[in-house]
Amino acid sequence: MNKDYYKILEIDRNATDEEIKKSYRKLAMKYHPDRNSNNKEAEAKFKDIADAYEVLSDPKKKSNYDRFGTTEGDGFQGFGGFGGFGMGDIFGDFFSNFNSRYNTTKGTNINIKISLNIQEILNGVVKKIKYNRIVKCHHCDGKGGYDMKTCHICNGSGHKNIIQNTPFGRIQQTTICGKCRGMGEVPLNKCNHCNGSCLETIQEELEIEIPAGVSKDMKLNKSGYGNFSESGESGDLYIIIDEIQSEFVRKGKNIHIDKYISVIDAILGNDVIVNTPHGDMTIKINPATEHGTIINIKGKGVPDINYGLGDLLITIKIKIPKVNNEEKEILSKLRKSFEV
Ligand SMILES: [Zn+2]
Ligand SMILES: [Zn+2]
Repeated sequence: MNKDYYKILEIDRNATDEEIKKSYRKLAMKYHPDRNSNNKEAEAKFKDIADAYEVLSDPKKKSNYDRFGTTEGDGFQGFGGFGGFGMGDIFGDFFSNFNSRYNTTKGTNINIKISLNIQEILNGVVKKIKYNRIVKCHHCDGKGGYDMKTCHICNGSGHKNIIQNTPFGRIQQTTICGKCRGMGEVPLNKCNHCNGSCLETIQEELEIEIPAGVSKDMKLNKSGYGNFSESGESGDLYIIIDEIQSEFVRKGKNIHIDKYISVIDAILGNDVIVNTPHGDMTIKINPATEHGTIINIKGKGVPDINYGLGDLLITIKIKIPKVNNEEKEILSKLRKSFEV
């Protein structure tokens, strides 16, 4: 993939998200197939614009593209990945007309990112989400109108044969009837709600159950909750997990915490309180504990999404205090016996 997405969107490399969005909207309107019927050049240009926006509007894909010139890795859908994150906001119904032109059998997928804190990852959580999706028009039940009659173009078969004369002879191809879009019938009266497009955009509200132990960039699939396609099937909704960073560092199934203790506690030992994602825990510091000692608390890490539990690893760090004159005097007396 060597296309210059910045050039395609007519923006420079440090354009803001808002500028990217604005330029995309302007260009997509200009080259949209609705406004350029049978213009192959505009169609190609429109595809490039959609590809460029899909990459540059997604921080992860954008950063991969900026570094490697590719979007690398999962989730890249290229053209057809429409309805992606935030797209609904920009176009709404405008996009409805688009699917039909390409006779997709399945509607487009929608990606939604959900950010979770460490407690939510440890325990699992139910999240409410709201997003825009394209569904079958509920006024006309996706028929585009009322008083259905047999399509006179395909005589109700829903498809038509195209015969082409080529240097190799006549070739017959079967395609979906453009007039009735494969349904075999057309409405006498157009539906005013969807303007005959058979589709409408609604705001969907869902509760998503996220299991314990998910990790960044994991995708949960909610089948059939993407955009509807008038050819009959809805795309999928993908929930993409993001982790909110905190003082608790997660490495796979384990959680790492640094705990500072005093020199005196390190020498004599003590019970100290450690702030963990499970709440405050009291841990025992043994006498003569070295700086860098790791205390492993079994089973207090992150649950594996399939089986088992990680550990909580507490690294003990010794805080060296500033001392006053009186303390200095006492410690000086001990210097000899503490020599190494
Ligand atoms: Zn027809
Ligand atoms: Zn309708």
